[in-house]
Amino acid sequence: MKKNDPNRKDIKGLTPIKTTKEWKLLYFQHDRPGLEESSHPTGLCRHCELRDSCTLPKRRSGVWHCEFYKATARKKTSLYENVINQLKKAEDVVHFDQDICRILAETTNELIVHFPVKMDGGTVTMLTGYRVQHNNALGPFKGGLRFHPLVDIDEIRALSTLMTWKTAITNIPFGGAKGGLQIDPADYSIQELEKITRRFTFALGNNIGPEYDIPAPDVNTNPQIMAWILDTYMSTVTPNERNRCLHVVTGKPIEAGGSKGRYKATGQGIVFLIEKWAKDNGFNLKGATFTVQGFGNVGSWAARLMKKHGSKLIAVEDITGVILNKEGIDPDDLADYVMEHGGVLDYPKAKPIDHQTFFCTKADIFIPAALENQITAETAEMLHVKLVAEGANGPTDPEGDKVLQRKKIDLIPDILCNSGGVIVSYFEWLQNKRSEFWDLDEVDYKLQKVIVDAYERVRDTAEKYKVDWRTAAQIVAISRLEVVYKERGIFP
Ligand code: NAD
Repeated sequence: MKKNDPNRKDIKGLTPIKTTKEWKLLYFQHDRPGLEESSHPTGLCRHCELRDSCTLPKRRSGVWHCEFYKATARKKTSLYENVINQLKKAEDVVHFDQDICRILAETTNELIVHFPVKMDGGTVTMLTGYRVQHNNALGPFKGGLRFHPLVDIDEIRALSTLMTWKTAITNIPFGGAKGGLQIDPADYSIQELEKITRRFTFALGNNIGPEYDIPAPDVNTNPQIMAWILDTYMSTVTPNERNRCLHVVTGKPIEAGGSKGRYKATGQGIVFLIEKWAKDNGFNLKGATFTVQGFGNVGSWAARLMKKHGSKLIAVEDITGVILNKEGIDPDDLADYVMEHGGVLDYPKAKPIDHQTFFCTKADIFIPAALENQITAETAEMLHVKLVAEGANGPTDPEGDKVLQRKKIDLIPDILCNSGGVIVSYFEWLQNKRSEFWDLDEVDYKLQKVIVDAYERVRDTAEKYKVDWRTAAQIVAISRLEVVYKERGIFP
């Protein structure tokens, strides 16, 4: 819907505070007395008290209040700041070489591209894309591409840095990178999305490459988008090179050179780690309850694989709504529903609840698998769980972390917990380079080995230094990078 759309209605009591070219990205501020932007209560946006009388237009089943919520949440904490503070926390425990820490506190390359795309109706839209390459000391830059209206350089910087830690912890020969496009894919036809993806790939040019920087799927991107990136890249190299660059991108459809098991790899990795945590702690997963935030690739696969252990999904939140059924929600059935309806809203076999009730729901395990900064001091206080397994990147802010520690809630931190995706991306990259095709059992077996080894390194480090697991994971990552830098020295 455009800014001057005749169907546009402003909401009574809400004032636009930010506009973009598309009216749907208006953010609103309550102008009721005493309700400042900074004190805007969590949950008002998705589960606004205006909910029933809300005249805000709905796109699919999403409610636009969310955009306001995320905008304010973003203002409060910079994800990159959190990531760098976490690095400093590890430095306080282990006295790493300061020169190396200074190198790791900076990104290597930051690219911002603006490019035009012709829409179906013939109009031309200018779009903005990012690719940040944090570090390639251990191997080619590696990291996903996110399509989201709130993507910005701070977020991409932070996520690229987290990728460096992730590949270092898991001992795979990649560095860290991340990219993104500031769009909501739901606004575009499939033809437009293809053109946008291809034009973005073209704009990135030689800044990506099979031995240099290898993108993969992330929020709102999928195997189809990876196939378009591959095809565009292949079309811009010489005929001789064309079939030597299949590994320019991972997370491709299997027919286009993807790996078996990549689609579920991040969820599978999370479940291998939860299994290991349960074994270490004498905890029985059969009959255990869990809740999931975000029911996309990561959240839905984690839930479906937990079902195989006899664990019970009882509450789910996504961008469209929040649902609860204490008797259990069948993750496979819910995944089919989400595929058809675009989200969990109005799922008939569970009741709707609000954001606050979701966080207050008592369960054994919570899997955040949506966006960053969701577990704050406020929401962490509401959690009654034994374990938080971070499927998303950066879902817990530093204040939330303190509360989880005080409440003695176990944590499998993001850079370990969601590393299954990049591990199987590495397997895909290897298969492409060697013209091999591994079967699913082989992929799963190798994934389990790599990720559980990483878990043991983090667990042992936490014990050795008597630190929380996030700090331990950070120490494992920096230790590996430090050795490599020391052995190679600094050029020239
Ligand atoms: P996705 O686009 O498939 O799913 C995202 C989910 O989050 C959707 O269900 C969406 O409705 C929900 N969501 C978005 N905003 C929300 C909000 N404000 N509140 C509640 N739910 C919200 O994305 P994905 O690939 O599953 O990625 C999810 C997270 O996992 C991201 O942080 C991503 O960086 C991380 N991750 C993904 C992979 C991967 O292989 N895809 C690997 C590692 C980490």
